[in-house]
Amino acid sequence: AEVEALLRGRIRDVPDHPEPGIVFKDITPLLADPEAFTALTDALAAFSIEHGATKVVGLEARGFILAAPVAVRAGLGFVPVRKAGKLPGATLAQAYELEYGSAEMEIHAEDLSGSDRVLVIDDVLATGGTAEAALRLIRRSGAQVAGLAVLMELGFLPGRARVLPALDGAPYQALLTV
Ligand code: 5GP
Repeated sequence: AEVEALLRGRIRDVPDHPEPGIVFKDITPLLADPEAFTALTDALAAFSIEHGATKVVGLEARGFILAAPVAVRAGLGFVPVRKAGKLPGATLAQAYELEYGSAEMEIHAEDLSGSDRVLVIDDVLATGGTAEAALRLIRRSGAQVAGLAVLMELGFLPGRARVLPALDGAPYQALLTV
């Protein structure tokens, strides 16, 4: 509860970003506070160890900032899921829906093996479309899903219900719900 209050107090509401009517949850004040960033990293590292993860996957771009220190802290490998066209090697691709249109994410499949247990990390779960696509990508790579962890869930959107089928019983953690 102490960690939760620390994290919650370091997230800034930015009205009308990226468009009118949206209140954007800005995590940069949390990242700038070493106590809060360390507490967040420790909490996510504990979750990854608790659930037997062998790799941590971060989702571009804010997911990278959280997942990389978690991987180091937990003694695990880090694997990025990137927007299409960025990774130089052979990739697996997964399409997903955006509010307007669709997008594609990619992973270097050879960085995961069938014996890996993958924890997916992102900053915010909104509609759940991004995390759901990433979980599908992990399963298609042949690796197992160890779980999904986010800093913050937007509880007024149905993101959790959307990712639960893709988790197929694997654990989900949101450190904060707004
Ligand atoms: P979803 O696919 O769940 O609708 O959107 C989640 C993705 O959009 C995440 O990768 C997250 O970084 C980004 N996102 C959506 N809304 C917010 C927000 O209010 N704050 C932040 N920091 N990211 C958001």
